[in-house]
Amino acid sequence: MKPTLILINPWIYDFAAYDLWAKPLGLLYLASQLRTMGFKVHLIDCLDVYNPHMKQMGYRKKPVRRQYGTGKFWKQTVPAPHQLSTIQRPYSRYGMDPRIFIKELKTVERPAAILVTSLMTYWYPGVFEAIRLVKDIHPDTPVILGGIYATLCPGHARKYSHADLVISSSGQCQPGELRQVLKKLIPDFHSKENLEPLSPYPAFDLLTRIDYVCLLSSSGCPFRCPYCASHFLSPHFLKRDPLELFEEVLFWHKKYNVQDFAFYDDALLVDAGTHIGVFLEEVLKNNLALRFHCPNGLHITYIDRDTADLLYKAGFKMIRLGLETSHAKLDRELGKKFSEGEFERSVIHLKKAGFPPCHIGAYVLMGLPGQTHDQVAETITYVGKVGALPYLSEYSPIPHTETWKQAITVSRFDLGSEPLFHNNTIFPCWNEDAFRRVSTLKKMAQDIRKLLGSKTPLGIPPIY
Ligand code: SF4
Repeated sequence: MKPTLILINPWIYDFAAYDLWAKPLGLLYLASQLRTMGFKVHLIDCLDVYNPHMKQMGYRKKPVRRQYGTGKFWKQTVPAPHQLSTIQRPYSRYGMDPRIFIKELKTVERPAAILVTSLMTYWYPGVFEAIRLVKDIHPDTPVILGGIYATLCPGHARKYSHADLVISSSGQCQPGELRQVLKKLIPDFHSKENLEPLSPYPAFDLLTRIDYVCLLSSSGCPFRCPYCASHFLSPHFLKRDPLELFEEVLFWHKKYNVQDFAFYDDALLVDAGTHIGVFLEEVLKNNLALRFHCPNGLHITYIDRDTADLLYKAGFKMIRLGLETSHAKLDRELGKKFSEGEFERSVIHLKKAGFPPCHIGAYVLMGLPGQTHDQVAETITYVGKVGALPYLSEYSPIPHTETWKQAITVSRFDLGSEPLFHNNTIFPCWNEDAFRRVSTLKKMAQDIRKLLGSKTPLGIPPIY
């Protein structure tokens, strides 16, 4: 009989969370690799909004779902951890009722191992909760913890998570590496499959329902912005064959009728002519009615007339440009990803291609160490003047980045020893006064969005 592995996507514990094409893509890739290696995989997705048992547990009001597969999660208000007790906002557990989680765990009699993933460093309470319950139900089964939190904060994870093994690996988890770990844990495991990273297709079929599929046309990023951990998490910039990517999209569209696809790429438009452009041309040639989304933002410098046309014709819906700041000095410090005039030009190209102004947004970074209110306000105004919608992106300090050292120095919290303080909602690198005045910046951005005709785009609450 095939050995069974349980794979867990844990709850989110936070002040706010929204399903903006949020799926555990790394875990789903892992699931498909493990199946190819000969395991039976049982996925427990704590963030499953379609879990059929929630109603029986007394949850009457289903999470509101919105356009293109986005929407709210199930949520239950819970006491905030004592470290965050000074923050006057409700704190919640997002995801399924833990009683359902326990029932799901019990359906697998003797799992060979349990693999738990992790995302944001400050979401570790959900990871710990999952591991605690797993240990209650399957005390003799080895628990392996991986993912982003485990990679960025391995010391914290090893000390406090109670996982039997913490895999802290930069780069996509290599199938070969995983095979070695499993060999040690499971004596009768003999797989010789020679798998490549980012293959086979991620196991979206294990989800209760596929509203959308997340894609990676590449992993890593050739840029090195000082506040970003992309270089640490994925040290190499690797591109997939665009035609192979098209085959994947065709597979999900034909077999599961998926129409919405969200790119998780950090640098989608780099070398567009030989890469994503080839893919989009293929979509057009085949006359497919698909919708594409880019929640991570696009590089302004690569939006020329042809690219803008192609994005529009192939079915991109809401464009998000990675502006970050219009303040010249800060822009230089952040790595200067585009030159003067390029933002204006990119917005003109997008409008000429057919995107209405209310579908062109720009991310404005706020909360950086040393950044002032005025600098953020200036950028919001600038975005509005250019005719795009400003979306605020709250800075979260990330270990192993260049800005981290400065963040530790200026923060009003002990970032080094407590990942809960990395939470962007508490603006850890701004002082109390600046934190209190954040609402004025949010209001400014909202007003400009309204003025430019955006009814809450996608129905998303104005947290971005
Ligand atoms: S912020 Fe974006 S462009 Fe900069 S390094 Fe990270 S992923 Fe690359």
